[in-house]
Formats: sequence, structure tokens, C-alpha cells
Amino acid sequence: MGRIVMKFGGTSMAGTERIRRVAGIVKRQQEAGHEVAVVVSAMSGETDRLVNFCREANPLYDPAEYDVVVASGEQVTSGLLALHLQALGCKARSWLGWQLPVRTDDAHAKARIETIDSEALLASMAAGEIAVIPGFQGLTEDNRVTTLGRGGSDTSAVAVAAAVKADRCDIYTDVDGVYTTDPRIVAKAQKLKSVTYEEMLELASVGSKVLQTRSVSLAMKENVRVQVLSSFIDENAPAADTLPGTMIVSDEELEGLDMERQLITGIAADKNEAKVILTRVPDRPGAVATIFGPLAETNINVDMIIQNVGREHTDTDVTFTVPSADLDKAKSVLEEQQAKIGYEKMTTDPKVAKISVVGVGMRSHAGVASTMFKALADRGINIQAISTSEIKVSVLIDADEVELAVRVLHTAYGLDGA
Ligand code: ADP
Ligand code: ASP
Ligand code: MG
Repeated sequence: MGRIVMKFGGTSMAGTERIRRVAGIVKRQQEAGHEVAVVVSAMSGETDRLVNFCREANPLYDPAEYDVVVASGEQVTSGLLALHLQALGCKARSWLGWQLPVRTDDAHAKARIETIDSEALLASMAAGEIAVIPGFQGLTEDNRVTTLGRGGSDTSAVAVAAAVKADRCDIYTDVDGVYTTDPRIVAKAQKLKSVTYEEMLELASVGSKVLQTRSVSLAMKENVRVQVLSSFIDENAPAADTLPGTMIVSDEELEGLDMERQLITGIAADKNEAKVILTRVPDRPGAVATIFGPLAETNINVDMIIQNVGREHTDTDVTFTVPSADLDKAKSVLEEQQAKIGYEKMTTDPKVAKISVVGVGMRSHAGVASTMFKALADRGINIQAISTSEIKVSVLIDADEVELAVRVLHTAYGLDGA
């Protein structure tokens, strides 16, 4: 007998029929002999709808009140799932973020979980009750409601799993595992049996939204066993305990599991970046610090950076990317600093996309980047910027070419399935 945390995403919770099916999956998991806690998302589309209400009320909304509004979607689904479980004869109750409580810092709209009080949860689960917990929400030290950033229910689930020392955290979604790339973009994408924490962390951070990045780093830190699997299944589907989905594993576990891995594990695309070019920045020590210092102070994350030295070595062009959502803010910060930085002109381009290839195999093999550059060049796709890490290569391209580029690279690295 084990202890399992199950998480169901928005599509899985979208309406009465879907929630009834989820209740069936949860009941079967309990009947397999486990203590069960469930973390749920709002119905799909609901959080977007609530965010829009806030924007309509005031484009420069107070994030603390935004959190009060957007956290409500998960309150609805947690209560509904408890009702559906009761209708199936299970003992079940909801535990809202403030009731447990789930303590977070006070960074509204992107709060971080600090602690989860697991005492009441453990007692309830031990008594055979199914605990249903709304994802995405928490409470600050001075009792204000917070939310964890979009996709944050994944992180809630992993945090609950760590708090109750669960044997496994099953993330149920609308695909049956983690694929070599988004299966909705590339039909030939293949499901992975396992992927390492590090690879999943890179994939999530470069745009694979199947798991929120923070949930993966938390799972890695707390050693939570995570499985990604589908909720779109019937009663005859293999049980979650047989691990039908994708397991996130450590490097050591992977070595024993999968000897025939490809060099590249996955490809991800991210259209949520924008490019900024500052021309004729004086070429002297400290010049780039005057650009990136003020951006950092405004909490704007800069991703890719290129600096080209001008022919006379008196000035340089600096190109970099920021999240699209922060582009306007970045522009106004840089305009304010123009005299201090000393650049001549600023141009921006929101129509770019970042494509990344990820794989731990890169550590021991050369040539991954050159395969990428050649495959893109052969299709006439121009590369505007490049960045690399130990297990990742990313390039910036025109947003219109993103789907073509993902397909071309998927083939170039031999990832296409039948
Ligand atoms: P949920 O509502 O369950 O949290 P999300 O929409 O956040 O689900 O994440 C699931 C989606 O992630 C899938 O529908 C799929 O389109 C997308 N996705 C992106 N990259 C991948 C990948 N490499 N493997 C599987 N799914 C992916
Ligand atoms: N409902 C929230 C969102 O849409 C959290 C989640 O689904 O994970 O971002
Ligand atoms: Mg999600």
C-alpha cells in the first residue's frame, strides 16, 4: 500500500462529464489500496476568463486582488470533484489553500510555496478520506491569497507530494506522456518512457508546457517520483501503478532503463519571447552592465544575448530577448536609460520564436549544434541568435517558421516515429 498524489489539469476537469470520469480514476486508485490526495486545476479556459475580468477592471491591476479572483477557478473544481467522489460512494473532502494552509511568499501572481502543513491531510488520508486540494493557490504570512503563476497546479501537486512523502505524484493531462516534441504540432512525435529531471527542467523552461518549470525543479530537489499520463482513458486502461505514462527519473535510473536513447531527447518551441536590438552602444568596460542592470532591477529576465563589435571598435550592437509580456516594460526602461547607456537606436521585434533541442547525450557527443544549423540552413531558415547549455542548444528564428523548424529538426535528429 502506498500514498499517491494525483493531479488533473484543466482539460481533464472541463465540465460535469469529465469530472465524473476523473472521480472514477481516483476511486480506482484508492481501490488499488492506496492513500490518495488529488490536486485539481480550474476548468480549461476558466483562468483565462478570470484574468480577462481583472484586465477589464484595470489594466494595471493590483496583483493581490488579481490572485483573489483567479484562485477561485480551482475552488470550484475541488468542491465539484469532492461531490462526484461522494456520489461514487467515496469519503472525500476539499482542502482549500488557506485551510491547509499552503504558505507562500508574497510575490502575488507568481508566488513560491514555502511550506505545506501536512498534519490534517495525513490524518484525513489515513482515515480513508480522499483529500481534494485546489492547485495554483496559497496564502501569505499575513493571510492574503496568492497564486503560483500559470500552470502552477503542477507545482502544487509536487509540493503536496513532497509534504506527505508520497510514493508517486501522477500528473494526469490530455496527452499520455512526455513526447519528443509537442504531439499536437508534430504527428510523428514519440512518447518517451522516461526523461531525466534535468532534461525535463530544460524542456519545460524552453517552452514545453506539459509541466510547469517550477514543478520539475521542486521534484528534483525533493526527490519526488513524477509520472505524466493521460486522464482520457477508460476502465480497461492499464493501471497507473504499471507506469503507462512517462516517468521523470534521475540520471542514474535512466542509465539502467534506456540503453538505446537518441542523442536528442526532445525539441521545444517558445513563441513568448521578443527581440531587442540596441545599435551603436559605446564599446567600453561596463557598457553592457548599464543595459542589463536596470532590466534586472525591474524583474525582467533577459534570455539570449549577442554582442557584435563594430568595425572601428568604438561601438557595438547588442541584441537580446525578453519575455514578450515584458517587452513594453523593457522598452520604457531602456528609453529612460538611453543617455546613460549611450546607444543610438533601439529596435524591437515581437515576431520571433526560440527553438531548443535538449538531451543529456549532448554531454558526451559533439556535432549536435552543427546538425541543427545545417538542417535549418537547408530549409532556408535564418538563425538570429544562439545560446547553449550543457544539455541544450537554442536558436532564435522568425515566428512564422517555428512549426516547420520543429518538424525539420525532429527528422534531422532521427526522432520521427512511424
Ligand atoms: P493541463 O491542463 O493538464 O495542465 P497543459 O495544456 O498545461 O495541460 O499541458 C499539456 C499540453 O502540453 C499537451 O496538450 C501538449 O500540447 C503540450 N506539450 C508541449 N510539449 C509537449 C511534449 N514534449 N510532450 C507532451 N505534451 C507537450
Ligand atoms: N488554472 C491555472 C492556469 O490555468 C493553473 C493550472 O491549471 O495549472 O494557469
Ligand atoms: Mg498545465
